Amino acid sequence: MPATDLDQIVNLCKRRGFVYPSAEIYGGFRSSYDYGPLGSLMLRHVKDAWIRSMVQRRDDVVLIDAAILGPPAIWEASGHLATFTDPLVDCKVCRSRFREDDLPDPDVCPSCGAKGSFTEARAFNLMFKTYAGPVEGAGAEVYLRPETAQGMFVNFANVLQTSRKKPPFGIAQVGKSFRNEITPGNFIFRTREFEQMEMEYFVPPEDAPKWFEYWCAERFAWYVEHGIPADMLRLRPHEEDELSHYSAGTSDVEFHFPWGWGELEGIAQRTDFDLTAHAKHSGEKLEYFDQASGRRYVPYVVEPAAGANRTLAAFLLAAYDEDEVGGEARTVLRLHPRLAPYQVAVLPLSRKETLLPRAREVHRLLSEWWMVDFDDTQSIGRRYRRQDEVGTPYCVTVDFETLDDQAVTIRERDTTEQVRLPLDALVGELSDRLGL
Ligand code: ATP
Repeated sequence: MPATDLDQIVNLCKRRGFVYPSAEIYGGFRSSYDYGPLGSLMLRHVKDAWIRSMVQRRDDVVLIDAAILGPPAIWEASGHLATFTDPLVDCKVCRSRFREDDLPDPDVCPSCGAKGSFTEARAFNLMFKTYAGPVEGAGAEVYLRPETAQGMFVNFANVLQTSRKKPPFGIAQVGKSFRNEITPGNFIFRTREFEQMEMEYFVPPEDAPKWFEYWCAERFAWYVEHGIPADMLRLRPHEEDELSHYSAGTSDVEFHFPWGWGELEGIAQRTDFDLTAHAKHSGEKLEYFDQASGRRYVPYVVEPAAGANRTLAAFLLAAYDEDEVGGEARTVLRLHPRLAPYQVAVLPLSRKETLLPRAREVHRLLSEWWMVDFDDTQSIGRRYRRQDEVGTPYCVTVDFETLDDQAVTIRERDTTEQVRLPLDALVGELSDRLGL
């Protein structure tokens, strides 16, 4: 059964080196997190799985990596300077601060229970501002990007020219974004610094509704393919008053978190809003000329925009399970092999001098292909349990017989079944079983 309590995952993440509170030795830095040895691998695997589906396995999407710092001109054109705000209210009694649209009851302070104690809502801009160069002040302001999307729009003409793509085609990007969230929280669900996986898909205007349906279905299926049960997911169309300033229609892929439904990804119809705005502000032509038909137009955009950190949390929650093996309770992460921090662990049965070199050879052999752990501490049962708890799909045990028969034992995480096979068949067998 998936985790029902967020703490099950928070504790496991801390204990096993997935995610640590940031700056912990200085008392922590509120709602910031660092990814440890296992978490950084898994986060990378989540992003790689996205790139694999969105770029590698298609011929109509290219990848870019744009700058995080940008001049105000970008954010003026995109509308973020004027409208990327949350309504902020303060409680006059306890001085707590809230996002007005998050309050369960707009008249009651959730902190102290006071009624009618809120200030008028102020529009609070979520962008982080800083200064480039040695002089602070007017003219030196720059912003940390609050979304990766604008990098695709400002590079539209460059990519069009260099990649020779034509609509329908997409530009994808994975990278950090920053928002000065009023109420970060729920572990890594909402933080001020996070990673996005976004793709802008440029299409002829009349085809936008069709591609919107297409991407909603594709993106929902991606989460299911990577191990989230369909009944823990839903696709929720936005109400008219929820829509972002650029959107003509948005649906969210939501996951059933322990505290309720929460967004993993938004799929938006951005129309020609961004390209038109950047063309106007920059004076550059941002359009497509179709030589075959002689038609010139500004493409419409369908954007699937996901968060890597939230998605990682959802994969962990969905994969979490507790069962019994040989009368003993165990915790197991039933992660998709593509997402698990390690695909394989090599475990020498003992630390005897005769065994270790052979086990290290096996590790070297497998690490050419996958991320492979090597563990020679404690009893073999405990080591299996440790690998189960971090989601490693296969353990390979090297024992004394290996030295004579050139064979090893593979143990499977979910069933705990073991099979013995010759060393020279190991890579092929693991490759078939992992199915990456
Ligand atoms: P929310 O309504 O939860 O604030 P949003 O609708 O503003 O999210 P988008 O602008 O659509 O989010 O960003 C796309 C994705 O980026 C989100 O679906 C989410 O996965 C991720 N994301 C956005 N803000 C944060 C954040 N503060 N922390 C972690 N991930 C985030």
